[in-house]
Amino acid sequence: MDTPQSSHSKSISSSHLSSPNGELNVQPLTPTELERYRRQIMLPGFGEESQQQLKDATVLVTGVGGLGATAALYLAVAGVGRLILLRGGELRLDDMNRQILMTHDWVGKPRVFKARATLEAINPDVKIDAICEYVTAENVDSLVQSADVVLDCAHNFTERDLLNAACVRWGKPMVEAAMNDMEAYLTTIVPGLTPCLSCIFPEKPNWDKRGFGVLGAVSGTLACLTALEAIKLITGLGTPLLSQLLTMNLSHAEFAKHHPYHDPECPVCGEKTRRMAGTKQDCPA
Ligand SMILES: [Zn+2]
Repeated sequence: MDTPQSSHSKSISSSHLSSPNGELNVQPLTPTELERYRRQIMLPGFGEESQQQLKDATVLVTGVGGLGATAALYLAVAGVGRLILLRGGELRLDDMNRQILMTHDWVGKPRVFKARATLEAINPDVKIDAICEYVTAENVDSLVQSADVVLDCAHNFTERDLLNAACVRWGKPMVEAAMNDMEAYLTTIVPGLTPCLSCIFPEKPNWDKRGFGVLGAVSGTLACLTALEAIKLITGLGTPLLSQLLTMNLSHAEFAKHHPYHDPECPVCGEKTRRMAGTKQDCPA
């Protein structure tokens, strides 16, 4: 069985929830926050401790569109303390069937700033950084270093590869989510422990095209699962999709889990995997 249990995610969260300079954020939950999140604090295995872990966490969300922005919405209402939203370009009218943080009057303006304004209005306790850029070789390292968890919702493999390599470099967990028409996939990558994006797709799928068909309910479905993966990583709740690739054909409501190959010779994560295998006995093959 190569699926790490939740005890792994507990250790993942505890090892990633310090700030980049190593100092723990110890702002306690306020009475308002305790009331706002009361219904999730009630969840078995959650409690105030998990809520505090969410408050202390920073999540980088790339590609703030139908997928990334919807995932950001669910992280904001869950009480993740800081969100970094990264997306270049302006809102188009044909974004409006799925980009639920946007409003009609914002068409033609940079979408990431509207995303921040909407999230701040919904939950003023969450700190939101909005950056009107795409993932580039120049910005990726500092962005990844700033985060505890990264959501890869970018819409091409150039950005996805840059993000994957940076997450491996800095040892940051990355939730990898993508869709094409009515199909979607989702996995959670922990460098050295699980296959990385390059292990899973050594040859890139032809998903780089712009303008594929998409229903908002499809990107929203994937977005909710993506946000849930991040919440699981941060809090240790349940079992994240470590070394598992969830594929979804939403035309037929067909869901399947696969076990992608963890390539020991992967040019991106191979060295880190070998290094971790030398120090950990439970690293999956
Ligand atoms: Zn790899």
